[in-house]
Amino acid sequence: MKVLVINTGSSSLKYQLIDMNNEKVLAKGLCDRIGLDGSFIKQTINSCNEFKKETKLNNHNEAIMETISLLTDSGIIKSMDEITAVGHRVVHGGEKFCKSALIDEEVIKAIEECIILAPLHNGPNMVGIKACREILPNVPMVAVFDTAFHQTMPDKAFIYALPYSFYQEKGIRRYGFHGTSHKYVAQRAAVVLNKQFNTLKIVTCHLGNGSSICAVKNGAAVDTSMGYTPLDGVAMGTRCGSIDPAIVTGLIEHDNYNAAMLNDLLNKKSGVLGISGISSDFRDLDEAAKKGCERAELALNVFSYQVKKYIGAYAAAMGGIDALVFTAGIGENNSDIRKRIVEGMEFVGIEIDDEKNQARGIEIDVSKPNAKVKTLIIPTNEELAIARETVSLLNNFKHDSADKSYFCEKERVH
Ligand code: AMP
Repeated sequence: MKVLVINTGSSSLKYQLIDMNNEKVLAKGLCDRIGLDGSFIKQTINSCNEFKKETKLNNHNEAIMETISLLTDSGIIKSMDEITAVGHRVVHGGEKFCKSALIDEEVIKAIEECIILAPLHNGPNMVGIKACREILPNVPMVAVFDTAFHQTMPDKAFIYALPYSFYQEKGIRRYGFHGTSHKYVAQRAAVVLNKQFNTLKIVTCHLGNGSSICAVKNGAAVDTSMGYTPLDGVAMGTRCGSIDPAIVTGLIEHDNYNAAMLNDLLNKKSGVLGISGISSDFRDLDEAAKKGCERAELALNVFSYQVKKYIGAYAAAMGGIDALVFTAGIGENNSDIRKRIVEGMEFVGIEIDDEKNQARGIEIDVSKPNAKVKTLIIPTNEELAIARETVSLLNNFKHDSADKSYFCEKERVH
């Protein structure tokens, strides 16, 4: 069974073709600058053999056609009939989706209704879905939502202290993102620890260009740091994370900032880039800090301190913590940041072994042997998670074609 995983952006389309019999990535690639000058497709086979072709890609339909041609031309598949299913990453499922969904007209309509919550992401995701359906009309497709895993949060965790009508009428609440990654690494942690997922209290730290923390209690997300949008929570590469909202109104009142300027400031010029004035990439900051750059050092400290506070907060929220998981670019590779984050957390039972903590990009328990809390590095794999969800949903569908349990039971109260 071969599953094509698609992640569509406004001018890009990333894909992976995964053989689900052995979970091997047969090919992965990127169509970039779709609809712009200089568009191209790039494909890697078996993690090494890279091929790049500059070709006009006027729209996402052409990108998908080109992807399939490249997969067949390179002999990865004989024809598109070999693609058993397509799994689509969809950023926002709002309050409509608590699980991945088999795509049909009803699901498409519901995803379209969520576009208002994430126009920059869901719009392109929808374009990708529609293009795939046109080109592969008989292939089942599944939507896997970044928000779905967080739908189990209780209202005390997702309600903002604004007038309640803002939630009722505009859907303004915490949604959370990176859900596919948090779920994948939390489930994996249970396997590594040889414990039942639904008995554990886990804090997962997805630390990359975008970072979020999630509290997973007894197999379900109970809180997460990102909010209505992926701007909330900890400071990130270029995003500010949580700040006092009066800063925003102040900039409007006193410095003539408008919405576009604020979006640019808070999403692209803030975070560790804003603090350091050097880079959003933690490798550059590490290097600068080692050379004595105080603001790079400060940026690393601010980030680590904020993550630490979330871990403490979530341990309190769950009434304890059994496992702490680090994942994504920084979480998997940056031993210094992991060390800064857990420093002084012995009081909750988090103690890491300095030598084990030097590991990068591998699945490993880095806790000291007697540490009460297990600290794990678990590389995330969102594409594999999407492919697994796709297969699992198709299997369910074979058993019960009327099962629509991916729609949230509790519709928003109006
Ligand atoms: P991501 O968004 O998950 O790709 O993460 C990007 C961040 O992870 C950047 O700040 C990088 O500094 C860091 N990162 C990614 N890969 C590595 C690596 N191999 N070694 C050290 N840091 C890395």
